[in-house]
Amino acid sequence: MRESAKNALCKIQKLTEEACRKCVTSEPYRCCSSEFCLAVEAGMNAVGKEIPKTSHPSLQYMGKTGCVVPAEFRPGCSGYACQGALESDRKFRREYVRLHEKFQDDETLNKMLAASNNFLKNIFGFIKK
Ligand code: SF4
Ligand code: SF4
Repeated sequence: MRESAKNALCKIQKLTEEACRKCVTSEPYRCCSSEFCLAVEAGMNAVGKEIPKTSHPSLQYMGKTGCVVPAEFRPGCSGYACQGALESDRKFRREYVRLHEKFQDDETLNKMLAASNNFLKNIFGFIKK
């Protein structure tokens, strides 16, 4: 993965984390789900990366203080913001789009995303946007 893509993903993870912290409707990590953890695992498998699972009862990568997968190995999670977050803050949206553009064409990243999306499509019949 390009260093610039990795940096952009780390930045977008911090950006989205900050937005989610302000989410008035949610409990922490409400947008995590077991199938997304499995999709992240499929993505990592595609590039030969392995992260030990935690003992969380349903989210296999949820540790005591948050997700244990580095931002660059869970692009579908770290680069995700819901419509509500995107629509509520123009500055946030601008930065979000700018950072997304920095990693969109990264080969390793796209390999992971393709494997994750295939997993979701095959198992659950939908693709995470
Ligand atoms: S993605 Fe949206 S709904 Fe989910 S926690 Fe973040 S701000 Fe809340
Ligand atoms: S991989 Fe991490 S961020 Fe993604 S759903 Fe699982 S615990 Fe949440």
